[in-house]
Amino acid sequence: MAISLNDSIRYIKGVGPSREKLFNRLGIYTVQDLIYYFPRDYEDRSIKKPIMELLDGEKVSFDATVKGEIRMNRTRTKLSIAKADVVDSTGRAELTWFNAPYVKTSLKPGATYTFYGQIKREFNKIEVVNPIFEEAGNSKTTGKILAIYPATAGLTQTAIRTAVRNVFDEFHYQFEEFMPEAIRLNYNLVDINQALHYIHFPDFKDSFVEARRRLVFEELLMLELGLMKLKSIQQEERDGIEFEKSEKVEEFIDHLPFRLTNAQQKVLNAIFEDMKLCCPMNRLLQGDVGSGKTIVAAISIYNAVLNGYQAVMMAPTSILAEQHYNSFKELFEKEGIKVELLSGSLTAKEKRRVKDRIATGITNVVVGTHALLEDDVIFNNLGFVVTDEQHRFGVRQRSKLSDKGRNPDTLIMTATPIPRTLALILYGDLDISIIDELPPNRKKIETLLVGPTLEERLNGFIEKEITAGRQAYVVCPLIEEGEENTDKAKLKNVIDVYEAYKKRFPDFRVEILHGKMKSSLKDEIMLKFKEREVDILISTTVIEVGVNVPNATLMIIENAERFGLAALHQLRGRVGRGSEKSYCVLKCYSRSMTARDRMEIMVKTDDGFKISEKDLELRGPGEFLGIRQHGLPEFKIANIFADKEVLEQTTAVAKEIIKNKKENPEYRALFDKVDEKFRSVTL
Ligand code: ADP
Ligand code: MG
Repeated sequence: MAISLNDSIRYIKGVGPSREKLFNRLGIYTVQDLIYYFPRDYEDRSIKKPIMELLDGEKVSFDATVKGEIRMNRTRTKLSIAKADVVDSTGRAELTWFNAPYVKTSLKPGATYTFYGQIKREFNKIEVVNPIFEEAGNSKTTGKILAIYPATAGLTQTAIRTAVRNVFDEFHYQFEEFMPEAIRLNYNLVDINQALHYIHFPDFKDSFVEARRRLVFEELLMLELGLMKLKSIQQEERDGIEFEKSEKVEEFIDHLPFRLTNAQQKVLNAIFEDMKLCCPMNRLLQGDVGSGKTIVAAISIYNAVLNGYQAVMMAPTSILAEQHYNSFKELFEKEGIKVELLSGSLTAKEKRRVKDRIATGITNVVVGTHALLEDDVIFNNLGFVVTDEQHRFGVRQRSKLSDKGRNPDTLIMTATPIPRTLALILYGDLDISIIDELPPNRKKIETLLVGPTLEERLNGFIEKEITAGRQAYVVCPLIEEGEENTDKAKLKNVIDVYEAYKKRFPDFRVEILHGKMKSSLKDEIMLKFKEREVDILISTTVIEVGVNVPNATLMIIENAERFGLAALHQLRGRVGRGSEKSYCVLKCYSRSMTARDRMEIMVKTDDGFKISEKDLELRGPGEFLGIRQHGLPEFKIANIFADKEVLEQTTAVAKEIIKNKKENPEYRALFDKVDEKFRSVTL
């Protein structure tokens, strides 16, 4: 019976149940997965030379005939050695194999083979150690360009290559084309069979370039079509609320303790335009750490409430929710607007009370965490939804919140500036606003890179700052010893660092904060820090997003090399929020050059946009976009940076297809493929 692409790889010749598990470990479950498992590199064994032309050091293939018997010996350490002499019409070579008893039985005197290996040549004495060989004229791995796959323990390159080859054999090298011909012609793409064939078995050095371009195009196009489809499902209803801009808004702005920056003003204008329209607002607000997104949200919320609707703001941590709650209370309560907090740190009874007030409509503005998503949180008339630090939430969580109103306007905020190309993919349906200007008088945060030898000088500096009335954060990668600590390097943990600081600074008030603590305790400590009752806060990255304590001027990051650049930038953004000069100290104990280079990027740049591009380059889009977290298909071949141009093409094509080609039968196969690929995606 013929195998189909969706069959388990178990049915491929040479795989079977035990190898199947190993393939599974590589993410390969079906035949389709295997043919889309692309080589990470190639080894060029295609060059064949006569023996006399072999050069010292080169890796090359050559045809030669075995002359005489294979000689078997043993070294003193009991290693077996096989030696053979081989000849061609131009010369002779001596071949040696260590611990390869099969050589004796598989090499036949007088027969001709293709050999491949690294040549050792001194004058005319040619030797090759451990060459690979195959019967001449029937070669699979010599005399050609060989794919090298990402492998896993127990699964050899040969096993993967054989399985791939067997699939191609099984399908007679014919896979079904699903890319419409019009697109292929327009963008000069090779067909699916050439593409798959040349990516696995390129026959000359550059034949895989065209293969790769087709597959990158295919991958990006399918991703974009898939995302567009998911999004269109989410926004079929289209009539939302028409908010008027209240006269009181300008008054409210005038009474703020600061003047809005031009960038904030511009974004607000765009938001008010959107709010007026009847179709629901869907706006992404990007702004670097400290650019003042919260007040933009607050002003928009104010307007929604003046229009008679409830508004909600969701934040990823209870610390942050509490902080927003406090600043909203300060802004709104004097206006007669009722603000409530709903987060995990409330008791069941308190929660009940808050939920009742939300349901009856007594509460105008709710600030909260994931707790807002619970089914029994019911709004009276929710009209405006804000999500802060959106990268911490999935699309589905956001829409779950919006579903608690009837097509409310939504504002999504992020401090992770996303490069344009990526924003196109992910947020194709969102309007994007950017705050590209920091409030005036922000002092540049000085970033220092410190190794172990400077430890005591650093401590002296901490002493000076705290004595001057400032506060410090110390961030560690772990909570306690042993936790997730698989590295050989000893990573700093909150508990030990806390003890060390208490001992070193007995006169200062040191406290601990981490994600495993009860929410109420976390809030309490954060409040103490805010009210200057704590001098040094030892914490994990729970303080990463949004926390605002202007008197803190020192951010010390232990094992800085362990954090992504975007996270470091976020952490650094916790200081430099007041009028005093602030410092970010990256303690890096790694001697690795790449770690040092990454730290240097932090020292040199304070532009969040540049940093996130670098981060993307270094860590790949999977980490960055939460691709794994959301079950989106990972990039198998495309590289968002190298393939920018293809991405621009596919963006245009995808839009055109969705607009004009949905019913076109020639696009049917492509849509089916997209459906299949995105069936299990939950955004
Ligand atoms: P983020 O964009 O990182 O969320 P916040 O909204 O927390 O930043 O703002 C950081 C700080 O800047 C807050 O203390 C806020 O009150 C202040 N701020 C916001 N806008 C302005 C402004 N136009 N002028 C001066 N300070 C501002
Ligand atoms: Mg913020």
